[in-house]
Formats: sequence, C-alpha cells, structure tokens
Amino acid sequence: MIKTCVTCGKTFIGHHRQLNCSHECTVKYNTEQRKIYSRLQSTKERSIYMRRIRDNPIICEFCGKAVPRQYEIRKKPRAHEHCIVNACRQYLIEGQRVPNSLYQRFYALGYTIEELREEIENETKR
Ligand SMILES: [Zn+2]
Ligand SMILES: [Zn+2]
Repeated sequence: MIKTCVTCGKTFIGHHRQLNCSHECTVKYNTEQRKIYSRLQSTKERSIYMRRIRDNPIICEFCGKAVPRQYEIRKKPRAHEHCIVNACRQYLIEGQRVPNSLYQRFYALGYTIEELREEIENETKR
C-alpha cells in the first residue's frame, strides 16, 4: 500500500504498520519520540515539584502569611511584593535609611527608591 512517511513526508510503498520510508527516517523518528517522551517526564517531575511547593507554602517574613509561588520555580520569594514595598515605605516615612538587604529585594522587584519616595510625597501632599 502507498504510505506517507511521518518524518520526511515522502510517499512510499510499505505495509500498514510502517511509518517511515527508510532506515534513516526510522532512526530520526525514534529519536524524536524519545525527545517527546523525556519532555513529558520532565513535565511530570515539574508537576510533582509544584505539588510539593503547594503543600509547603513559604511564609512571608513580614506579615506571616503564606506566599503564593506563582513565580519561576527557582525564584523563591520569602515575602509578598507588597510587604517588601510596605517595609521600604515604612523606613522612608520614618526618615530612616532602608537596610541594604531590603533595598536589594525591593530593587529586584523593579522599583526604585526614588519612585517610592515620590509616591509617598504625593500621598502626604493630598
Ligand atoms: Zn522518510
Ligand atoms: Zn506578606
């Protein structure tokens, strides 16, 4: 019967279970299948990992509530974004210097102290 090769798309004469036209295409096809399989495995591993994360929530060091880990797997937030911002804001309102460790985390969120300072100034004007 006339078949179409699943790898290269050429038509060839083969029996009904034959998927590829040549040995080369069979090898290519098997390699591709293995790749897909290994990808599935890592997805499975990822879902196990995500479940473990869900069962062991991270506690925010500022407010003591669980921090949802919707972020990248490797990035481990130990505080809510708004808690980090609020902590910084508190230092600024009190006219104190923001500790370096907090500043770095605040900066990592994509904010700048200048922005926050401006925000506070605008709020107090109102
Ligand atoms: Zn082929
Ligand atoms: Zn928090």
